[in-house]
Amino acid sequence: MKIFCIGRNYVDHAKELNNPVPKQPLVFSKYPTALLYNNKPFFYPSFSKDVHFETELVLKICRNGKHIEERFAYKYYDEITVGIDFTARDVQSQLKAKGHPWEIAKGFNGAAPVGRFIPFDSLPNKDSINFSLTQNDQVVQQGNSQDMIFDFAKLIAHISKYFLIAKGDLIFTGTPAGVGPVQIGDTLLGSLEGEQVLTCRVK
Ligand code: ZN
Repeated sequence: MKIFCIGRNYVDHAKELNNPVPKQPLVFSKYPTALLYNNKPFFYPSFSKDVHFETELVLKICRNGKHIEERFAYKYYDEITVGIDFTARDVQSQLKAKGHPWEIAKGFNGAAPVGRFIPFDSLPNKDSINFSLTQNDQVVQQGNSQDMIFDFAKLIAHISKYFLIAKGDLIFTGTPAGVGPVQIGDTLLGSLEGEQVLTCRVK
């Protein structure tokens, strides 16, 4: 399976990191070894001193496709959850400065916790999906899918131009503003439409 991720998909987050707002989706990927299911703990990596959470809606792909048109994109995902795109910001900043790939800053072991998946059809409003993250009981990020620069259909159309998307693949759809550092001992809770779907303890 593959894990696609989208960078800078919310204007307020692009601004908080002083990045330009992209004209087309910025795609990168993580490895399956980055996945954390079933609320497994996240082990703080030894190579970073500044790991940040990025809270994102995560789509699960339900059928294979290439060159998918936007109007048919909804047929290719059927489940959604909240995930964390853990980022070693210090490592990423060094890589970005050199124009190098982000791979090790974003794709390392455990860098992709995902919550319990919910059937997409069970959402109260599929065009306006609320999600949030608390860090030790404080709300640190709140997002709504309406604020995405590129919506789910546009992301799937774009990604499938380059890659076969296959049943079981995941798409991390980008983070809203409010990203910040985690510390060992933190408890992060992700919610989708007010329902807690993800627990991630930092060890
Ligand atoms: Zn992200």
